[in-house]
Amino acid sequence: MAKLLLASRNQHKIEELQQMLAGLNIEVISLDDVPDIPVIEEDGNTFSENACKKACLTAMYTGFTCLADDSGLVVDALGGQPGVYSARFAGEDADDRKNNHKLLQMLQGFDEEKRRARFVCVIAISDPQGNVNTVQGTCEGRIDYEERGTEGFGYDPLFIPEGYTQTFAQLSREEKNRISHRGQALLKARTLLADRGYPERGQDF
Ligand code: IMP
Repeated sequence: MAKLLLASRNQHKIEELQQMLAGLNIEVISLDDVPDIPVIEEDGNTFSENACKKACLTAMYTGFTCLADDSGLVVDALGGQPGVYSARFAGEDADDRKNNHKLLQMLQGFDEEKRRARFVCVIAISDPQGNVNTVQGTCEGRIDYEERGTEGFGYDPLFIPEGYTQTFAQLSREEKNRISHRGQALLKARTLLADRGYPERGQDF
């Protein structure tokens, strides 16, 4: 069975991606399954630059076709922050709690209209020769006034997707995957994978 390496160390992302890739007839492996590879610095100015860098370098280093996701939260009223700095928004020792706290503080006094935001996810798929393609998914929504819910990770307790009253952290994993930026990007990524010869389950390639 063809192998696909997920170039991420974020366990939450890996679980979401693995769940969404389950319908494909491929063996999905993670960085835990390959010998130590150097940490790749995410120093790009765009989600796309970072996703391509992670996918290409990991693929060239390991010899596996790699899928990398770079994602984050974009808040219009903050000029697009935290954006590509979503993971490190509260500084070098940032964690989800500190990032969420900082975001709530920066949005203090902002009404619902000014709390509009979107999650963005770029998925890059690269072969070991560095041939790379990208797809993007977005999920529109707004930032809540307080954290609600225990599911998911990152900014999930603060993000209310459009058309919902609950935050991502109050939705089931299946429901989040169905509407999320990562879910949308992965739907498109499945086409890229099929183009690269990864068969859908039940299909005779
Ligand atoms: P990356 O590993 O550089 O792509 O950083 C992604 C960061 O964006 C995470 O650490 C989270 O802070 C945030 N993020 C990305 N996707 C999600 C999501 O699905 N839910 C909540 N936060 C997310």
